Amino acid sequence: MSETESKNFIEQIIDKDLAEGVYDEVHTRFPPEPNGYLHIGHAKSILLNYGLAQKYHGKFNMRFDDTNPTKEKVEFVDSIKADIAWLGADWEDRLFFASNYFDQMYEGAVKLIKKGKAYVSDLTAEEIREYRGTLTEAGKEDPYAKRSIEENLKLFEEMKAGKYADGEKVLRARIDMASPNINMRDPVIYRVAHMTHHNTGDKWCIYPMYDFAHPIEDAIEGITHSICTLEFEDHRPLYDWVVTELEYPHPPKQIEFAKLYLTNVVTGKRYIKRLVEEGIVDGWDDPRLVSIAALRRRGFTPESIKMFVDLCGVSKANSSVDYAMLEYCIREDLKMKRPRAMAVLDPVKLVIDNYPEGQTEMLTAPNNLENESLGSREIPFGRELYIEREDFMEEPVKKYFRLFPGNEVRLMNAYFVTCTGCEKDENGNVTVVHCTYDPASRGGNSPDGRKVKGTIHWVPAKEAIKAEVRLYENIIDEEKGVYNEDGSLNLNPNSLTVLKECYIEPALKDAKAYDSFQFVRNGFFCVDYKDSKEGALVFNRIVSLKSSFVLPKKED
Ligand code: ATP
Ligand code: MG
Repeated sequence: MSETESKNFIEQIIDKDLAEGVYDEVHTRFPPEPNGYLHIGHAKSILLNYGLAQKYHGKFNMRFDDTNPTKEKVEFVDSIKADIAWLGADWEDRLFFASNYFDQMYEGAVKLIKKGKAYVSDLTAEEIREYRGTLTEAGKEDPYAKRSIEENLKLFEEMKAGKYADGEKVLRARIDMASPNINMRDPVIYRVAHMTHHNTGDKWCIYPMYDFAHPIEDAIEGITHSICTLEFEDHRPLYDWVVTELEYPHPPKQIEFAKLYLTNVVTGKRYIKRLVEEGIVDGWDDPRLVSIAALRRRGFTPESIKMFVDLCGVSKANSSVDYAMLEYCIREDLKMKRPRAMAVLDPVKLVIDNYPEGQTEMLTAPNNLENESLGSREIPFGRELYIEREDFMEEPVKKYFRLFPGNEVRLMNAYFVTCTGCEKDENGNVTVVHCTYDPASRGGNSPDGRKVKGTIHWVPAKEAIKAEVRLYENIIDEEKGVYNEDGSLNLNPNSLTVLKECYIEPALKDAKAYDSFQFVRNGFFCVDYKDSKEGALVFNRIVSLKSSFVLPKKED
């Protein structure tokens, strides 16, 4: 970012903190709960935190927030690490697990008890809720709040030793039952839960609550700016209370920003889990989803996601971003970088009747008209080709400039051809289109200045490779809502189209998983890592070439 560009509100806070000596460095973190796959929203948080660390020559930590033993799964830890690494966020040697801090959290709780700032309560969860009051009504003092420090220390020790059943006792912070902020009305900070933890096993039967654990994790790691999403704004006073009462010398500061929402896209773990479990999608990385794994499989690049996140900006106000903006970013990223090739998705045969039978010649085609450095390739050309079925019409509609009897078009990088007619099967479907070519137009250049209005792509019938191509649409129709009235999922029946008989240029025969190409006129495509095999390639359409999206003008 150049100096003249305006800074976002978080950078302004950091600048001020550095100028005033509140901190002398910037240290951020990304703290996912390992309870699902990361999605595009998380990518925003990752790139924001990592980007700030980079910009200010600071540090970025990776931390699994695995303090809640019910939901976490080891299987998600690996996927999350892989996704973050793929996005390019480098935590160097700073990979942490919050569960490794359970001892310090316990000590922190003991410290609060000793300061008279925490007490053990026997109220049930329901009673605690009743005592808490409402937005308009102050809470009531907990009848156990008057326990002595000694008694609290003893009871808390017994909680830890396993003397009590789940829910029998909790540790509450003593703050203010009359606070206008309900989070400050003596929040529970430790609970009894006899559960096995994936990291600490059965060592603990008490676990810290998120609002108590998180500030401690940040403080232990020396985080300066603890960036989270807006729903934690009301929890910030509690965050500050914890780091203040525990007397950390350089307490971290919580800053909230608005979550990223995309139109027609669902990121909720519950919804995606249901799609996966009901077999509607092919796992967490189905290319129709917007998990990071799915975007990668579909053919998105880390650069495109970074561009997208940068365009979204950082804001304090919730809003939804058009999915078309993400598509714009991947087009922008790939259009100069990736080679172009011809692929026919819905083939019909084209026979050039005046081209010598049995002859093949090699024609040269540039790999990317806008980027010469990508070089060129040779494509075999012969008497029989495949073209797109929609590039021929026996009776053309208005403004149709492609093949129809009597019309001349350019075969891309090849020759001018004039359509002479077609053959049909008993149902009236076109099986072969016929034409003649002008040998003087080799390379697709006009021999005498005459013009053609249409240029169509093709592949040689004999040498082309058969491939499967998958086209995607949004999986839900957001206007109708995510769920139907009966609770079933509201799905777009056209979200996946599988084309089994497509033909691609022979130059692509060695394409490997994640390789992407622009198939001229058809869009950008990527080799599917899961289902594509040597000799049986499968391509995912990343995005079509047409865009309705216009880049918004900068306001400042
Ligand atoms: P979800 O419920 O959408 O899967 P989460 O908040 O439960 O998300 P966490 O693992 O708790 O997921 O989040 C890790 C980090 O990612 C948090 O700092 C959170 O604020 C951030 N985050 C989650 N969703 C978004 C989003 N849509 N936009 C930006 N940041 C997000
Ligand atoms: Mg969460």
